[in-house]
Amino acid sequence: MKYVIIGNGIAATCALEAIRRLDSHGRLTLISDEDNLPYSRPLISHLLAGTLPAAKLPLRPPSFYDDLGVETVFGHRVDSLDPTAKTVRTTAGKTFSYDRLLIATGGDPRGLAVPGHRLPGIFFLRRLADVRQLLPLVGEGSEAVVLGGGLVGFKAAEALRCRGLRVTMVIRSPWPLALQVDEFTGRLLLDRLRQHGIRVLLGREVKEFAGRERLAKVVLDDGREISAGLAVIGKGVRPAIDFVPAASIKTNQGILVDECLQTSVADVYAAGDAAEMWDLAYQEPRVNAIWPEAAAQGLTAGRNLAGRRARYPGSLGRNVIRFFTLDLLTIGRTNPPPDGPYRQLTAAAPDGSWYRKLVLHRDRLVGAILVNRIEDGGILQAVIRQQRLLRLPPAKLLDRWSWSELWQL
Ligand SMILES: Cc1cc2nc3c(=O)[nH]c(=O)nc-3n(C[C@H](O)[C@H](O)[C@H](O)COP(=O)(O)OP(=O)(O)OC[C@H]3O[C@@H](n4cnc5c(N)ncnc54)[C@H](O)[C@@H]3O)c2cc1C
Repeated sequence: MKYVIIGNGIAATCALEAIRRLDSHGRLTLISDEDNLPYSRPLISHLLAGTLPAAKLPLRPPSFYDDLGVETVFGHRVDSLDPTAKTVRTTAGKTFSYDRLLIATGGDPRGLAVPGHRLPGIFFLRRLADVRQLLPLVGEGSEAVVLGGGLVGFKAAEALRCRGLRVTMVIRSPWPLALQVDEFTGRLLLDRLRQHGIRVLLGREVKEFAGRERLAKVVLDDGREISAGLAVIGKGVRPAIDFVPAASIKTNQGILVDECLQTSVADVYAAGDAAEMWDLAYQEPRVNAIWPEAAAQGLTAGRNLAGRRARYPGSLGRNVIRFFTLDLLTIGRTNPPPDGPYRQLTAAAPDGSWYRKLVLHRDRLVGAILVNRIEDGGILQAVIRQQRLLRLPPAKLLDRWSWSELWQL
């Protein structure tokens, strides 16, 4: 059996291990345009911040590929896939045939199509290579602009601030982390950002990057100019699936997969940030581009590639973020439409030291936000996953000491 895996992130890593556990003889080929051992992508911002050495990033020992008998094709980007011929081709013109294929290509950041977007000094924060390019430029006292108020924007802003840079975040939405949190939580985050000296401009977009030979200022859509020698684009990541032929393999935001992580074409599987599947909280297909999903999907996909039928129960978005000593946990659907069958229950400490919100769809929990006191989040996550009917009275639902009862219902 010839297996080809495209990508070298956590989904690919877990898939390789799962395949090898079940098939000790099959031929494994891994193609990736990165050329490192698999590493912890969520930790690259800590390398940028200077709080973690590069040696802590690899997820597996140097002997990893040899131990599993994996042929690595590093530094090559796949640019076409022919599911009829069962081949993939790289930009260098190399062709590889497969019996079973896994697409685990994660996401690619898309640049901002505004004047000056190619000026030196503008970066993404997606890959280790991005941080390596950024590091020599993060001199204390200089000015940086971070574009985007999502998870990556937050991590970039915090890291640059840790390095002593003056940081301005430019966020299009009315509050930070708008895809994950409600307005109340967004305001708490905003206070925290500002307390730590990060300037935040809400409801704004970039109109132009300006400078002669390199970035000197960022011009916003309201005409405001921010002088900055460095800009980090922390938004606009999309599944890296340009090479996937949409005529044969069904795609939406990501590659649509069934409960075995198989695409609409036999013997082609997808996992991680590149894949779109049934979401347990939204009850519709979604891409949940988070680390634990990518790892679990990679493992399940690997088992299926190796011929063991393994079912994935559905994905669930969740995030735990520690941001300048504020702990935030979000799970599932946190901003439901105001009308319809949703109920939102909230409680907050009078001094603002904690906040919690539960979202119910009829009598099932579908989402939660916890600010501080997040340690019971695992129970809420399990309840959402299992889609249990809740029988506790709504007022009791908010009492965190009742959450163990939720589990026993
Ligand atoms: C800065 C940052 C912070 C994050 N923090 C968190 C966090 O706190 N918690 C959390 O849950 N998630 C976090 N994430 C998201 C998390 O890292 C991703 O969900 C996870 O890495 C996805 O894994 P993956 O294996 O699907 O894809 P990736 O890790 O993106 O790996 C994809 C691989 O495929 C390669 N590739 C792409 N296209 C091609 C091609 N055409 N040909 C060959 N190779 C290709 C890429 O180079 C890469 O090696 C963060 C992400 C970033 C960037």
